[in-house]
Amino acid sequence: MFILKGCPKCKGDLAAESSTRRMEVDDDVTCIQCGYHLTTDEQRRLFGRLVPVRRRPQPLPALAPVPVTLPIRRSA
Ligand SMILES: [Zn+2]
Repeated sequence: MFILKGCPKCKGDLAAESSTRRMEVDDDVTCIQCGYHLTTDEQRRLFGRLVPVRRRPQPLPALAPVPVTLPIRRSA
């Protein structure tokens, strides 16, 4: 999971090593930009501020792909 602009040092993006969607405090959270490793205290503060992202339903494509039908060649 990525936490954008969550680094307390450089405001960079954080990568969290988590096998589940739920964050645990002792997970490995590291900044992608500066390599800073968050302490458990910083993780606890950060995770308390996280809000789940709701995905908007994607609109249907304006144009549907046209099925290609090739004429069947029959050998005479
Ligand atoms: Zn950083």
